[in-house]
Amino acid sequence: MIRDQLGRELYDLRISITDRCNFRCFFCMPDGHEYQFFPREELLTFEEIERFVKALVPLGVRKVRLTGGEPLLRKNIEKLVELLSNIEGVEDISLTTNGFLLQKRAKSLKEAGLKRITVSLHSLRDDVLSELVGREVKVWDIIRGIERALEVGMNPVKVNVCVIRGVNSDEVVDIAKFFKSLGVVVRFIEFMDVGNLNQWSLEKVFPAKDMLELLSRHFELEPIEKSYRGEVAERYKYRDDRLEVGFISSITQPFCGDCTRLRLTADGKLLMCLFASEGYDVRALIRSGADERAIGDFVKSLWLKRKDRYSEERLQLLRMGIPLRKVEMFKVGG
Ligand code: SAM
Ligand code: SF4
Ligand code: SF4
Repeated sequence: MIRDQLGRELYDLRISITDRCNFRCFFCMPDGHEYQFFPREELLTFEEIERFVKALVPLGVRKVRLTGGEPLLRKNIEKLVELLSNIEGVEDISLTTNGFLLQKRAKSLKEAGLKRITVSLHSLRDDVLSELVGREVKVWDIIRGIERALEVGMNPVKVNVCVIRGVNSDEVVDIAKFFKSLGVVVRFIEFMDVGNLNQWSLEKVFPAKDMLELLSRHFELEPIEKSYRGEVAERYKYRDDRLEVGFISSITQPFCGDCTRLRLTADGKLLMCLFASEGYDVRALIRSGADERAIGDFVKSLWLKRKDRYSEERLQLLRMGIPLRKVEMFKVGG
């Protein structure tokens, strides 16, 4: 186990496997920009990702999440899921998707070893969803994917909802009700100032405590203890049900003190924080033929120096008007 400068262990790894996406969510990858995507040869191959993950298990990594861009756009990611599922020491593999391709892929992903999944769905209204994701999308196309994931036995199936004041904040209760009836766990996420393009402002943030207050008028909820250090969601259990609901309040109640996450971009850069302005190249090392020990030593040397705590410093930085260039969300993977 290794600890950074603030005493935080390295425990979970988020791997972005592509920076491409079939959506253009305005809070992540707004339409109307010329995006430059990584050329294919710059992407880490599945075998390179496998070697990297193996190298991190001795450092403490137990949880791996695949993300993107849209991870289901990467060809045959079932193969990657299978490779990672067979790594001794990795206890949990999950994937975050926008759900558009899930109906067709849920079965093969499950067969490859994916036990659980998170689907992002931000509205139950076609017009609002289409506006949010920058593409004509039918809510039921995504819900069918969620139902398919349940049918093939993924457990839990979770839904991420990015809540933006005045856009979908009036749907919090309806979304909670709907997914409670399906047996799906919802995570409501505060709109974050990731990247540089999404025109974020504090006024558009709908605080988690207001979401909780709204839900408390309709459901009886009781708080759940964190299941591990570094768990970002504040979780509540419905009294009349075994199901839970959670909030990720990165803006109003930052949780940097417990942040045990390392992020790897699709082109092999390591980010110590979701809001980092640059990454450390690990691809060159992997491609130089370095063994797992050398890769592990490199990551360890970076983690030991880590002292990032952007969310706790945000308000001060904003107040001082210090502009920051951050890596875009679709490159980092959330
Ligand atoms: N494309 C996949 C998806 O949308 O689920 C995976 C990648 S996406 C970057 C990962 C998560 O980040 C999604 O749940 C998405 O809603 C969330 N996200 C993106 N931009 C965000 C923002 N500005 N604030 C809060 N959450 C955001
Ligand atoms: Fe694509 Fe996900 Fe970003 Fe939306 S949030 S643009 S689906 S990567
Ligand atoms: Fe972790 Fe950075 Fe988010 Fe803080 S702001 S919780 S350090 S990723």
